[in-house]
Amino acid sequence: MDYRDTPEEAEFRLSLRAWLKDNTIEGWRDLTEVADVRKLRKEWHRKLYAAGYMGLNWPVEYGGQGLSPIYDAILNDEAGKADTPPLPGMVNYLGRAIFTYGSEEQKKRFLPTLLNGEIQWCQGFSEPSAGSDLASLRTRAVREGDEYVVNGQKMWTSGAIHADWCLLLVRTDTSVAKHKGISCLLTPLEVPGVTVRPIVLHSGEPETAEVFFDDVRIPAENRIGEEGAGWKIAMTTVSYERGAADVGFISKLRRTITELEDAARERNLLGDQGIRRKLARAYVDCEALNWNVARQLSMRISGRAPGPEGSVGKLLWSRAAQGTMHAALDIFGADALTGAREEWLSDYFTSRPVSVYGGSSQIQKNILARMLDMPKG
Ligand SMILES: Cc1cc2nc3c(=O)[nH]c(=O)nc-3n(C[C@H](O)[C@H](O)[C@H](O)COP(=O)(O)OP(=O)(O)OC[C@H]3O[C@@H](n4cnc5c(N)ncnc54)[C@H](O)[C@@H]3O)c2cc1C
Repeated sequence: MDYRDTPEEAEFRLSLRAWLKDNTIEGWRDLTEVADVRKLRKEWHRKLYAAGYMGLNWPVEYGGQGLSPIYDAILNDEAGKADTPPLPGMVNYLGRAIFTYGSEEQKKRFLPTLLNGEIQWCQGFSEPSAGSDLASLRTRAVREGDEYVVNGQKMWTSGAIHADWCLLLVRTDTSVAKHKGISCLLTPLEVPGVTVRPIVLHSGEPETAEVFFDDVRIPAENRIGEEGAGWKIAMTTVSYERGAADVGFISKLRRTITELEDAARERNLLGDQGIRRKLARAYVDCEALNWNVARQLSMRISGRAPGPEGSVGKLLWSRAAQGTMHAALDIFGADALTGAREEWLSDYFTSRPVSVYGGSSQIQKNILARMLDMPKG
């Protein structure tokens, strides 16, 4: 199989690279105020949209460009190399949920502003006692006439502090099997009864949040799919979380591994067998992730929807990200811990939840064990 760019892809890559060089937003890592980060996210999203880089793989009838997922992979790769602010990744998988399951009216209403960044979204699935066992979620939505009245709590909702709307999973029926009683509501966050309480991570950033719903009234027309179809919608959404987006992490990891090699050389640590082994392992893990993503993309191009093999990619990504940061702490040692090179400690902490969000490593292994028909423990 030939994984090199076709002439069209190579041309796209070159013009994108030139655009990123002229348009990336300087100093984005230094922003700390929530309002500034929010402004930056919108500005970056709108710039990408205006330049034609959003919805590359979306169908043309919904405002996309109908290109193959390779173009999204190229966008992620070049953005990772250019160290741009994060790409608005949720657009692709939340968009997928809406254009696959939404009514024509919902598609017309929600897709254009999701694509152009006017409205920012978050994904409200996990709850305090429903993470790995998502189907146990308890946020309740009771139908009253033309509305649902929603009560409950979501947890770890990334980006909720910056978001205007949420793709929300709720329980609409308690009398059926737990997977069958879940529905999906497109929910505005700036309405009475919604409280967003930031969870401040090690970086000092409120990257995720708890979101509380207290008698929140949501029009029934905001439900996507049938009542009880929420599980299917959630599974479609999470299966598109992985894939092309991983390519951005690969280019960032490759850059980091090169930086670590240089730092080890400067610190006379390349003779240390332990460090050499960790760097070599990080490199191999990163390349293994790369080939896994290439394989997944090939399957997607041949028309196969993503399936549980994405679990292999999630495991490889966690391993590569965490292994690289273990090597970084060994190389920078006390400098990372005492503040002289504290950015590496911060990056180390950022790598820790990679094996938790989007489904923990243990859960990915359970999925693979089921696929392989292995006996239950
Ligand atoms: C930084 C961050 C961002 C996140 N962003 C979002 C978001 O935007 N939207 C959203 O909805 N959620 C989000 N999450 C939530 C994430 O999906 C959950 O944290 C994850 O699914 C694990 O659920 P939990 O935290 O409830 O842990 P638990 O499910 O309680 O698991 C605790 C531990 O037990 C293990 N475990 C649980 N069940 C099993 C089993 N059956 N077999 C073997 N081991 C098991 C797990 O692997 C884990 O190690 C985010 C989480 C983090 C940390």
